Amino acid sequence: MVRCPGKTARLNRLFNPRDGRAVCVAADHGWMSDVTPNVMELRRILELVVRGGADGILISFGTAVRHGHLLRGKDSPAMLIRADWMNMPRLGASNVSNVLPVVNFKKMATSRARDALLMGASAITIYYFIGYGDEFEAINIEQAADFAKECRKVGLPLIIEPMAVGGMVTGVNIAEILIASGRIAAEIGADALKIPYTGDVKSFKQLVDQAGVPVLVLGGAKSDVPRDALELVDEALRAGASGTVFGRNVTKAKDPEKMVSDIVALVHGGKTIAEILGERRALGQRLKPVPTQCVGCQLCEVACVRAHTPGYGQTRARLRIQFPPLGDELSPIRPVVCTLCGQCVEACQPGALTIGPDSRLVLERNLCTQCGACVEACPFDLIFTENGYPVVCDLCEGDPECVKWCKRGAIVLTEWKRRARHVHAE
Ligand code: SF4
Repeated sequence: MVRCPGKTARLNRLFNPRDGRAVCVAADHGWMSDVTPNVMELRRILELVVRGGADGILISFGTAVRHGHLLRGKDSPAMLIRADWMNMPRLGASNVSNVLPVVNFKKMATSRARDALLMGASAITIYYFIGYGDEFEAINIEQAADFAKECRKVGLPLIIEPMAVGGMVTGVNIAEILIASGRIAAEIGADALKIPYTGDVKSFKQLVDQAGVPVLVLGGAKSDVPRDALELVDEALRAGASGTVFGRNVTKAKDPEKMVSDIVALVHGGKTIAEILGERRALGQRLKPVPTQCVGCQLCEVACVRAHTPGYGQTRARLRIQFPPLGDELSPIRPVVCTLCGQCVEACQPGALTIGPDSRLVLERNLCTQCGACVEACPFDLIFTENGYPVVCDLCEGDPECVKWCKRGAIVLTEWKRRARHVHAE
């Protein structure tokens, strides 16, 4: 509960008073990570994000000086200012594949609460690193507490973004550490959190419940398929999140305005993903990875090969386990499975690939020209060919071996609403 009137007034500008939710976009990457088109064309992207109906936009102080006028007016999004800097995600298209070694981590304050207030900000956002258990973590908490003190003095809301990246963080315990980090950030004095999704509804609900302040889920690295980004939002909302702070999933989207308005429809409009994407509702099943549960034993790959071809091994598996690059302590080990995104189906000009009524990819060999378009189109690089024909996930006739063999629940079957155009014609 925020008791400071200044904070309450500013939080009401950010969180829609009707539903207590907010859709924010993070556009503060340029000074910390990659100078990609979304950074070079920031003004155009900010205009699209405003048109999409975002409630808030997170920008750096310099961007606020140059483009802050785009956020003026009573219906414009609230301005959030990034008040600190860190050197972790530079040099790459993703903030995951090019992290610097932990030993080189640096973080420092770049603007104060009062500066942000004078710029017209409705809140500031700062990082809070967790997972070291050493001096660095202690200094970080002290800095965060200083910001919290300043924010209380001037009535400016503080949004803390926990970053679980220290040497104590593994792919297995990351959900647990994120849950703890949310609670600690709230204890430091956060008025809201900007935090990654833990990977499943149950653990994210725990995080939301324990934090006790509004939780805004972030999008992380850009999803190849917009539906995946929307599903993450949907799950976070079901866990009790108060909205989103999506960065690259909006700023690098083909159509940033549409991406924002789709998220707004989900967060504020009560729409389902199927309605937003114009899909016909037809329930089916598909595989879903839960990266926080995966320990990398690769039993699923072996079980997959064994179910389809004689013998053992992993190379002919219709799924794979993706390990983060050496030195990347941020990312979990990730099962990469067919999510029935439908991109192979759309790429198949002769219509040889469809999704069957039983939720399996169906290949009609007599229609297949062996052009390889489906292989190219798969965003997860999961389709391989045998004698020229694509080999795709067949869900093991509705009882997937990978799900059965993974005793950790890192691959699960989930309900899926099929798109009409993907359904096999019978
Ligand atoms: S069997 Fe489960 S835990 Fe082992 S690698 Fe596969 S998904 Fe990960």
